[in-house]
Amino acid sequence: MKSLTTGTQRKTDLVINFHITESCNYKCSYCYATWDDLEAKNELHRSPNKVASLLKNLASYFLSDNSLKAKMGYENVRLNFAGGEPMLLGKRFIDAIKFANQLGFKTSLITNGHYLSNDILDDIGPSLDVLGISYDSANYDIAQKIGRVDRNNRWISADDLRMICARYRALNSTGVLKLNTVVNAVNKDDSLLPLMTRIKPDKWKLLRVLPVYNHDLVISQSEYLAYVNRHQALANIIVEEDNDAMTHTYLMVNPEGRFYQNAEAGSGYVLSDLILAVGVEKALTQIPFDVSGFQQRYQLIPAVELSGEVTLLVKECDPIPDNLFSKIQDRIIDFQQSREQFSYWFKMKNGESIYYCRLNDNYRMVVEVKNKNTGPYECMKHSTFDNRF
Ligand code: SF4
Repeated sequence: MKSLTTGTQRKTDLVINFHITESCNYKCSYCYATWDDLEAKNELHRSPNKVASLLKNLASYFLSDNSLKAKMGYENVRLNFAGGEPMLLGKRFIDAIKFANQLGFKTSLITNGHYLSNDILDDIGPSLDVLGISYDSANYDIAQKIGRVDRNNRWISADDLRMICARYRALNSTGVLKLNTVVNAVNKDDSLLPLMTRIKPDKWKLLRVLPVYNHDLVISQSEYLAYVNRHQALANIIVEEDNDAMTHTYLMVNPEGRFYQNAEAGSGYVLSDLILAVGVEKALTQIPFDVSGFQQRYQLIPAVELSGEVTLLVKECDPIPDNLFSKIQDRIIDFQQSREQFSYWFKMKNGESIYYCRLNDNYRMVVEVKNKNTGPYECMKHSTFDNRF
């Protein structure tokens, strides 16, 4: 048995989405990565020093004590690179993500996967805490109709996606693999069940297409739910996100280096001044930001509930590699602090009182609800789990 201390040592992430460019090699009809009145020439990455300055500014505010931190109680800050397609920027993107790591940010990436060559994955994969890949269909015709092909009609096939995901898993055993699918009028009757069952991402986020700018691909809530229900066999990894939950709950920076939030649906964005001109603190006051929505999304909880330390027992039913212990701690904290929805934990089908989570390709952890605050949290190989349960 090992003991872990949680409570005051909890780790939660504040996530900042940095949309480093609005350019993309795909042309999805529903794409809302368009910023009013913002010309591509104003994108900060065109001056590499300015991206470095922005990252330094964000680091010096968010990685130090500040009023937002006091309110939200986060400990780590993850800079999530998104777009457009961030990898379209090539070396400028690679330099930016490496610099963010050097400054002390955790990093993650949302990409359409098109430029995730083996070399690039080998370079950045080991330090990417989360790799998110957007993927709407394994059917070429559907992908093409949505616009998920480049100008030479190249796309990411199911085999390509499987190889990318497998390589990331091999490079980073504790990294989180997320796939995102936008359910829209073209793919609403499609099924990704066989592919997702093979890949087994940590999370598969299903988003209903947002009615911003382009209404052609909009679907009803019941059409969206029909898609979700068709994939119920994967309920343990599916995360649903509806349009209401997406308003004012992301902390977002646009390519020009301004905080921004969605205004009322269809009416554009609320933008702050340039962060490099007015500083992070002032720019933050210029946008609406829903702290409670953010807390719900990332399962942060009020600091008052964090007082006191609890020593937990972790039982190694099979020998556990030392590098898994911080993940074990994160999973336990997630289980203890979540109310109804768990990010990583699933109820055992035949045992209402037993929950389990996946630690990586080889290990799982199991606990009885009544032992939630004390343990033992039992860690074992998948094969041991299959034999026992
Ligand atoms: S891949 Fe993403 S950024 Fe590119 S067009 Fe599609 S939705 Fe927009």
